[in-house]
Amino acid sequence: MTDIIQLLPDSVANQIAAGEVIQRPASVVKELVENSVDAQANSITINIKDAGKTLIQIIDNGNGMSETDARLSFERHSTSKIRKAEDLFAIRTMGFRGEALASIAAIASVELKTKTYNTDIGTCINIEASEIKNQAPVSTPTGTSFSVKNLFFNVPARRKFLKKNVTEFNHIINEFQRITLTHPEIEFRLFHNNSEVFHLIKSNKRQRIINIFGKKTNQNLITIQTETSIINIDGFIGKPEYAKKRFGEQFFFINNRFMRNPYLHKAIMNAYTDILPHDTIPSYFINLEADPNTIDINIHPTKTEIKFEDQQAVWQILHAAVKQSLGKNNIVPSIDFNQEKNFSISSLTKDTEIRQPSIEINPRYNPFEEVKKSFNTNKDNINNWEKLYDSFENENPEKEDRQLSTLLSTNININSKNSENNSISNNFFQFKNKYILTPIKSGLMLINQKRAHERILFEKYMLTLENETSITQKSLFPNTINLTPIEYSIIINILDEINSLGFEIIDNGNNSITVNGMPADTNNKEPKLIIDQLLFEYQNSEIDIKTKEKEKIAEALAKASAIGYNQTLCNKEMMEIIDMLFACSSPNYSPSGKKIISIISTNDIEKSFL
Ligand code: ADP
Ligand code: MG
Repeated sequence: MTDIIQLLPDSVANQIAAGEVIQRPASVVKELVENSVDAQANSITINIKDAGKTLIQIIDNGNGMSETDARLSFERHSTSKIRKAEDLFAIRTMGFRGEALASIAAIASVELKTKTYNTDIGTCINIEASEIKNQAPVSTPTGTSFSVKNLFFNVPARRKFLKKNVTEFNHIINEFQRITLTHPEIEFRLFHNNSEVFHLIKSNKRQRIINIFGKKTNQNLITIQTETSIINIDGFIGKPEYAKKRFGEQFFFINNRFMRNPYLHKAIMNAYTDILPHDTIPSYFINLEADPNTIDINIHPTKTEIKFEDQQAVWQILHAAVKQSLGKNNIVPSIDFNQEKNFSISSLTKDTEIRQPSIEINPRYNPFEEVKKSFNTNKDNINNWEKLYDSFENENPEKEDRQLSTLLSTNININSKNSENNSISNNFFQFKNKYILTPIKSGLMLINQKRAHERILFEKYMLTLENETSITQKSLFPNTINLTPIEYSIIINILDEINSLGFEIIDNGNNSITVNGMPADTNNKEPKLIIDQLLFEYQNSEIDIKTKEKEKIAEALAKASAIGYNQTLCNKEMMEIIDMLFACSSPNYSPSGKKIISIISTNDIEKSFL
């Protein structure tokens, strides 16, 4: 047999490598800006067109490259940052693999202009799909400028895979924040389609955070600083009262390199135990300095996870450092946010006047009459609950759902008739402002009110989105809301959908929107709160990309609008929720798949009295 193994041409090898390093326009921005930082630039400008799909240009005033280096920089494994294997363990630069430029040049058209301080004339190189198209002397300032055009032009599958411009630009902003936060000594400008998105002047670390995340951040920041033999910690953590319902201001860096570290995130969350409002995450901007020998960063090129030699010790040190900073600022656990509103005991002071509680009695009240009345009018109803319980024994959830809904669609009529004369009111009881309880013949049924309401709204929103019928809108005073660039781009991305759900939102540009109207069933929440929660739910949605965008929006809005766990419900409201829940196609589970209904069987209740 003849030999069949061949070496791949460099251009193909580079294209394969590019798949790992360059996933989207944001990866190009990251690699090129990191190179500028490594080249000791103190001013870096980024020009983006169409979220990087048309142009990514990075201009720096760093060291520049000689003619030979400029040519060599596009070769794979060409780097000026390490020379021998040992260097790998002492890395202080952002890049070191020498793969980025080779990868970018393999999948785009690149123009490089560069000049070092000690020459008058620079070098210009044009390269496309790893092929040098042109190399010539050029007059250019000291430093380097890269223009990357037509990204993925020769990898159609990749190009097709790119998301909407807003999403891709979001990724660019994320990378931009990660780099700019650790380099406040460098001036950065970011332009998108010729308009300036960020101009970050040279400053200290605190000022840099404020310049990126807004003036409000200033009062929020507490310094954190600790030095130990294993690790030094330095940066800022946020005050609990500024904690937000969504991720976006949580940053860990290791030796000034961004890292993701869910394990250490827990150390922080743990240190905030009992002082955070429910469901919120504090901001943090923390740099860990460690001997590069004790960490492993030489992993997958795009991976941001980093391993420490002694993870547990780092956890403990960070946890203690956060606690200490909070303590120094007198932020200690004092409020129990889980406390139930209705059971709160107001503190008594010396001057509080103590009055005897008044009791109102209805002398004509006859409890037996009430019970009889409700029992009679609800005979059908009770029979239906019973059938409902039977269906719970069924293992097949789909069948279960179908049974429930057919069964309860009959129930709705009964209930709505009854609601007029209020006669079944005794059948519902609210427990802990969280569950609706109702007896059924075979036991006691508990319904989680928030999840039930989420399911109801979700199905309603899905219907609206699919039929493109808009629902009643509530007019209110125009409410202008300023958002961060990321929040803004998310809202603009889903603007059509949320407007068709009953919002009336106008894009003011410059990270600002005006809310002129909201869907009728947003539960009287403030527009700012709804938008905040909507963003939180949308960003944290577990719905994966394969699922329709519409579902994700409907779910996020349903969660944001639904009644909460601290809402007292009257009988009529409880009944409405139950009616509407069982009119849903899947009443058993919330849109995110959580159980809505639970039944305690009479048997179990009786057993507990044995
Ligand atoms: P790495 O950053 O891992 O070394 P790259 O492919 O990103 O690999 O870059 C290759 C080399 O090109 C760098 O090591 C550096 O010497 C040079 N280089 C790249 N960008 C710049 C720049 N903006 N200014 C000066 N030199 C640069
Ligand atoms: Mg690099």
